[in-house]
Amino acid sequence: MNELVRRGTRGLLRDMNNSRVLQIIQAHGPISRAEIAKIGDLQPPTVTAIVNDFLRVDLVRETDLVRDNGNGSAAIGRRPILLCLNQTAAFAVGVKLRQHGMTIAVTDLGGTIVYRSESVLPNHTPDEALRFIADRVENAIEVAAINSTKVIGLGIGMPGIVDYRNGVCCFSPLLEWEGVHVTSTLESILGMPAYADNDVNMLTAAEIAYGAGREVSDFLTVTVGQGIGLGIVLRGEIFRGAAGGAGEFGHVKIESDLLCECGARGCLEAVASDVGISQQVAAAKHLSSIDIIEALELARAGDREVLAIVEHAGEVLGRSVGNLLNLFNPELVIVTGEGTRAGDLLFAPMRRALEGAAFGTLGRDTHLVIQSWGDEAWARGAASIVVHEMLKPPIYEARSAGPLVHLLARSIHGGTT
Ligand SMILES: [Zn+2]
Repeated sequence: MNELVRRGTRGLLRDMNNSRVLQIIQAHGPISRAEIAKIGDLQPPTVTAIVNDFLRVDLVRETDLVRDNGNGSAAIGRRPILLCLNQTAAFAVGVKLRQHGMTIAVTDLGGTIVYRSESVLPNHTPDEALRFIADRVENAIEVAAINSTKVIGLGIGMPGIVDYRNGVCCFSPLLEWEGVHVTSTLESILGMPAYADNDVNMLTAAEIAYGAGREVSDFLTVTVGQGIGLGIVLRGEIFRGAAGGAGEFGHVKIESDLLCECGARGCLEAVASDVGISQQVAAAKHLSSIDIIEALELARAGDREVLAIVEHAGEVLGRSVGNLLNLFNPELVIVTGEGTRAGDLLFAPMRRALEGAAFGTLGRDTHLVIQSWGDEAWARGAASIVVHEMLKPPIYEARSAGPLVHLLARSIHGGTT
């Protein structure tokens, strides 16, 4: 289904110009009004009016900085006042849902976390869970002492298949959710734009906004931990597939008959995730279960059986990531998630297998980064998707007004969107 482009009304033109001016200030600031008009191909009075609105809500600030334009003209006549984005003018809320808990992070526009909290997610119906989440979000905003008119929206990341455009969690075995209308419920309770996405995509959004992905347009984020996930960025945008299911990397099939948590056999996750490794170690040691941290301790202590399991997991992961290089030819692969605590036990065999599996020069030309991130990074990622939406041209029909329209309406007109 194609996205519907908005009708060419005056409202669209206004939203487009607002977005364009904000993007230019974010990308090129400190910048003068005249330069904005030039880069944006906009009339100077249009730029002045938009900038005035932004100044009123403190979204941009005039700086004392002066830029010499190189031909000495700055020395003659009035030097232009430069504008830059005020990163602390507005805030976004990010929620990372796990099977039995959630992390909330409140960030400013620059991705700096100003508040975070952890909550246990009560075992209730999806509707009750969403009410609980909304209640925790309201509490977070209150405790963080942020004026609610300065909150531009909420991003919520969860494991499973999520229809981003419609804000529906289609299928999440971990949460036991199916067809849950996440964003419409949260928007109606909280009165702010909400975005729901697969959690790995949220983490990937943070890489686009603030991380290693800022400088590259085609990259992959592979997460290892309880499961194995994949975020795909093509030409600077997250690729979600037809129904939001793209990147279910943990469930690609490999040569194995191990049972996956999804119910199928032969999934990558059943061999190489923390859960998969723990289960194999438990079986080898005739235990009912073993924690991944204890399993890794056995490997570090030199237990050959456990070492062989972790090494095999690394090899299989490396071959599978090598297949991704063959499919996408990314410039960069970021491997992250709590599974990175396995360190070289997992990643030395992974790197070897990856080089063997990549076609020709593809392995050599791809930059591989392994970084450890916790739940805070996931929640920060969820917030970053709201900032990403604020800076995106508002050309498509959406369920509700975007974060920028919301902020301007609440702050300037005092109304609701
Ligand atoms: Zn599976």
